Amino acid sequence: MKKVLYEELCPKEFEERLEECPVAYLPLGTLEWHGPHLPLGADGMQPKGLFVRVAEKIGGIVLPALFLGPDRFYHDPNREFYGMDIYTGGTIVPYEMQQLPGSAYWMPDRQYQDMLRQIGANLSRAGFRALVAHGHGPSTWQFNALKTEFKEKYHLDCYTAFDFLEDDILGYQCDHASANETSIVMALRPELVQMDRIVSGGEAPIGMGGRDPREFATEAYGMQVLEENVKAMSEGLAKYRSNGK
Ligand SMILES: [Zn+2]
Repeated sequence: MKKVLYEELCPKEFEERLEECPVAYLPLGTLEWHGPHLPLGADGMQPKGLFVRVAEKIGGIVLPALFLGPDRFYHDPNREFYGMDIYTGGTIVPYEMQQLPGSAYWMPDRQYQDMLRQIGANLSRAGFRALVAHGHGPSTWQFNALKTEFKEKYHLDCYTAFDFLEDDILGYQCDHASANETSIVMALRPELVQMDRIVSGGEAPIGMGGRDPREFATEAYGMQVLEENVKAMSEGLAKYRSNGK
């Protein structure tokens, strides 16, 4: 198996992989409440799983996952809430605004954009020509907003997984801790999904938005989402391969 993780490559291996395919992959993670049943690092492990498969197939190098990210927030003098703490509308069950346990990721939009800019400058300097970033919704939107700037300033072509496959069902991470994300984690790391926590008699399925995972999440659905996205992304990025295939 090819080594594809940036942190595992020696310089010579890095040069060879860059020469073969100068694409960097950046998982946009969080440490964030994803329902009582999913791991707090779900947002980073999903793009990492996708990117490792694409990199093994067509080349490129996978960066370590970020775990800070932007999100909607509400601050009063005594407390700070963000993300699913306050996004209580449109969720599977209604709940009061509250600090959901385990979340530790929020940073302001502008600081996040500046961090992405710094990453872009460094990757350009290292020799990459394209950057694929995906994961936590608000992080992915912030990255999306910088695409033109990254092309002009750093000569990097930028993509998210949605540029290769956009679909309400087969899109990658297109809900929050519901059928889509739960199924993807089931496909990648089945031992980390604890469905027994949210079935009848378990904990309230709060802080989750999308189709109910108790009804629609399966490992087979997750595998389908994963495979369709590996295929679409590999085809879309094939032009960066030095052998043209
Ligand atoms: Zn998520």
